[in-house]
Amino acid sequence: MDQPVLELPLSQGSFSELWAGMVTSSDVGALCPQPVPTLPLVSASEETWGPQEQLQLLGSDFQFDLLMDEELPADVTAKDFVNPPSSTVPVTTDYPGAYSFELQFQNSGMAKSVTSTYSEKLKKLFCQLAKTTPIEVLVSEELPQGAVLRATAVYKKSDHVADVVKRCPHHQTEDSSDNRSHLIRLEGSQLVQYFEDPNTLRQSVTVPYEPPQLGSKHTTILLSFMCNSSCMGGMNRRPILTILTLETPEGLVLGRRSFEVRVCACPGRDRKTEEENAGKTQSGSKQTKKRKSAPAPNTSNSVKKVRSSSSGEEEDKEVFTLHVRGRERYEMLKKINAGLELLDTDGKRTKQEKKFPKKDKSDSD
Ligand SMILES: [Zn+2]
Repeated sequence: MDQPVLELPLSQGSFSELWAGMVTSSDVGALCPQPVPTLPLVSASEETWGPQEQLQLLGSDFQFDLLMDEELPADVTAKDFVNPPSSTVPVTTDYPGAYSFELQFQNSGMAKSVTSTYSEKLKKLFCQLAKTTPIEVLVSEELPQGAVLRATAVYKKSDHVADVVKRCPHHQTEDSSDNRSHLIRLEGSQLVQYFEDPNTLRQSVTVPYEPPQLGSKHTTILLSFMCNSSCMGGMNRRPILTILTLETPEGLVLGRRSFEVRVCACPGRDRKTEEENAGKTQSGSKQTKKRKSAPAPNTSNSVKKVRSSSSGEEEDKEVFTLHVRGRERYEMLKKINAGLELLDTDGKRTKQEKKFPKKDKSDSD
């Protein structure tokens, strides 16, 4: 999209002045299906990217955003200011609503070569990094004019739900696009818009809803995920949910669907493993309880299991060398890495303490 508004000068004086100077009312309509901003227009540097603020808000998410701040594009776009208000913690429950909003995934099986596959059983999508997943959207009747579909990612576990899901620093620096920090991309449309809520800093992406073409019952959207679930400093093996909401142009939610996502190297294999494990857990839950009270026969069994499950983590044990420009940045990255290592060992310890006697799962857990 080449829009005139995207290019703010580096000095970034007053945003409202620039806005007034650069955008005509018809431009606004074309640019934003959302209503023209009701939020007060403030200068981008004050409101959206204050490093102090981010540190406070992000809390446990370390200082990645501070780090990214150095490399932020100067062209903070108009659309950053017209987000509909969003709740602090996004709702993830399914809500078909008055339009019976539904999603359908293609049946792509579990072959080794598959790049994206959905498990109905687990309500979970397994896909490779940056590979496209077509999702069919179904509604029961015609939607209000200007309806959009919005995709948001959120951490599944309550421990992490307050953290914003973003791409890892590594993948962000490799990417020069405006929306490089966004994990979820919607492809195939020029009308896709990327949002970051100024209050929650949560990111989302929207695409206008298109009614099905003649003879078809659904429309297809193309979703892709730009980090692996295992990406250090990003998802860091924390499972995520993707929420798809159907919204009016004003941001009123008409329907909602959510599903878990694991971005990994071998979607087919991981789906198979996880479905098998889920089957075991269901049929063997009584057994598991019994085993808990009798740890002796359990030991060899679970050690074996843990080992086999860690095969999914092999790719993450690879050691990389990073060339860093500037000592300050190097020291910062070193600290982050040390923190992550610590988190990793900590996480593994608690994971083992908690999970050892129970069923095993792959590293998505
Ligand atoms: Zn990444």
